Amino acid sequence: MNYAQLPKIELHLHLDCSLSYSVVHAIDNTITEAQYRQEFVAPPVCEDLRDYLTRAVKGFSLMQTPAQLRLVTLDLLAQLEADRVIYAEIRFAPLLHTQQGLSPAQVIDTVQSALQEGASRYNVVARLILCTLRHFTEEQSFETALLTRQFFGKGWVVGFDMAGDEAGFGVLAHKKAFALIKESGIPFTVHAGEAAGPASMWEVIRELGPRRIGHGVRSIEDPSLVRYLVQERIHLEVCPTSNLQTNIFSSLTAHSLRALYQQGVSVSVSTDARMITPVTLSSEYHHLSEAFGWGQTEFLACNLQALEAAFIEDEIRATLRQQVMMAY
Ligand SMILES: [Zn+2]
Repeated sequence: MNYAQLPKIELHLHLDCSLSYSVVHAIDNTITEAQYRQEFVAPPVCEDLRDYLTRAVKGFSLMQTPAQLRLVTLDLLAQLEADRVIYAEIRFAPLLHTQQGLSPAQVIDTVQSALQEGASRYNVVARLILCTLRHFTEEQSFETALLTRQFFGKGWVVGFDMAGDEAGFGVLAHKKAFALIKESGIPFTVHAGEAAGPASMWEVIRELGPRRIGHGVRSIEDPSLVRYLVQERIHLEVCPTSNLQTNIFSSLTAHSLRALYQQGVSVSVSTDARMITPVTLSSEYHHLSEAFGWGQTEFLACNLQALEAAFIEDEIRATLRQQVMMAY
């Protein structure tokens, strides 16, 4: 099966963790390819999520000016088109791109303009999710929520997320931000059940009430949680190889995705970070087909579930659905 040719939906993808070597080199030509592989890409197994995240700094430090943000955004669209991703929700934390004087609103404007420019050049429908981070203060988190409200509904920003070091920081500092997001009717997702176990997922469900969770793969440790996810139709954005790198599973065969799927949880497959995790969605499908014996049926189901959970206007959802149904 040639997965590279099949249209794919990707819900979980970090802009600042997905720089190709060519864009890194275009921004800073002193960085060699060997250095990129050593410092920007994470090894097959890191100590844990925190260790993995030390690479993210490399990406966003090269994304501090309008020219750099534009290049990185267009670079990701080119990667997505080559991978036949027809719809992607791209996420980033605007507050991380202000080191050279841009305001967070200018950062978002710049990325939006690049998407606009890329829309006519690449055959990819892309939307944005703005992230707060676990280690942010209550004020920083709330500021990100305000920005999301400001840009939401204007064509590009479709949702809100919380990423970052899950084991080190809880959700308390972020409740105010999420309250604003919910009050404003903005769709959101939350990273949980990755570095920390089912307790962190229950916390997020109880305190924030998401319809979508980033990763959530450790829910398999708690059968009552799995039942709850099925019952409430909470979608999990699963990034298999990234989970091996953060040392949650020892191999794809041992990954919980297959069991979650079989038990009726709504799941989809994403790459997470195409730089830190050196994969494409096509290569993820290929590896999953080898590890799980998955074929077109399972990937069609995952893509339809992704579309059902996508933060996109219904009209575009229907068009994308048509495209996926025809191809599989
Ligand atoms: Zn992520």
